[in-house]
Amino acid sequence: MRLSIVVPCYNEQDVLPHTMERLSAVLLGLTQSGKISGDSRIIFVDDGSKDGTWGLIEGFAASHPPIYGIKLSRNRGHQNALLAGVFSADGDAVVTVDADLQDDVTAIEKMVEAHAAGAEIVYGVRLCRKADTLFKRLSAEGYYRLLGLMNVEVVFNHADYRLLGRRAVEALKQFNETNLFLRGIIPLLGFPSAIVYYDRAERLAGKSKYSLRRMLSFAWEGLTSFSAAPLRMITGLGVLISFGSFVVTLWAIWVRLFSTSAVPGWASTVVPIYLLGGVQLLCIGIIGEYLAKIYAETKHRPRFFIEKIVPLSAASEDSP
Ligand code: UDP
Ligand code: MG
Repeated sequence: MRLSIVVPCYNEQDVLPHTMERLSAVLLGLTQSGKISGDSRIIFVDDGSKDGTWGLIEGFAASHPPIYGIKLSRNRGHQNALLAGVFSADGDAVVTVDADLQDDVTAIEKMVEAHAAGAEIVYGVRLCRKADTLFKRLSAEGYYRLLGLMNVEVVFNHADYRLLGRRAVEALKQFNETNLFLRGIIPLLGFPSAIVYYDRAERLAGKSKYSLRRMLSFAWEGLTSFSAAPLRMITGLGVLISFGSFVVTLWAIWVRLFSTSAVPGWASTVVPIYLLGGVQLLCIGIIGEYLAKIYAETKHRPRFFIEKIVPLSAASEDSP
């Protein structure tokens, strides 16, 4: 089995030398034990870094044969950098891992074993997040739960540390969306999959490249690229408010007919405000439903992948 390890790097000059060393050691160990073939490689993707990252990669690529470098024209973000690496990698399987060594690289061996045992996709899942700050842990885990509530299928506590077999990669190539949220797309691929658990460590060096703003925008992207639930909520709100105003209308009529405390002009002013508000929200919600359909269509997502054809023939390629 020929393995490629893809590492997206953005301004990682502090940690990169360690990363190269550790990953090289993993690769060597796996080669020596015969689990992967000798022509396996490590691919560093420089995501438009502004520091010495690319220089380091070039240096290593020149002196270490299994190391390759890909330089993106500018900073395109973590997800795009990952894709660039995964799509350029050849071989039978691709492992993607962050440059900061927060994800235990020894889990790669378990991933390779799981792949050899038949899993096409192997998810790395964080077992403990003690090394993360309380805020990061709460926000991240709360977010995975929220996604679950909105019917977005994600693997809990799995980030972008995973192994993809060749067929999963070919399937992934058929997703043409510009709003990329790999964590949501990978489970859509299907295929036999496995999970490998590991403990998340602290960043070895350098600072997190995800500022709060970037984290929020990433979270929002993940939600809105996979779920029309927020649009549906508008409809729900509209129904609720319309119903509320209806009840208030009945109450206003009752007050007018059966009591003496009716304020002239109150009902005819206040009730329509709420009623119209409710009706408008309901209408926006209906438009939202259509929008959701258009949105799903414009994604041109592939509808299925063929995993197996029996009896096995040469033509067992994926078809959309
Ligand atoms: N990264 C990237 N492009 C970016 C931001 C980050 O390629 O625009 C890489 C970064 O070098 C690292 C990985 O994505 O290898 C994850 O980033 P980071 O560790 O900063 O995120 P965190 O673990 O804090 O969520
Ligand atoms: Mg990190």
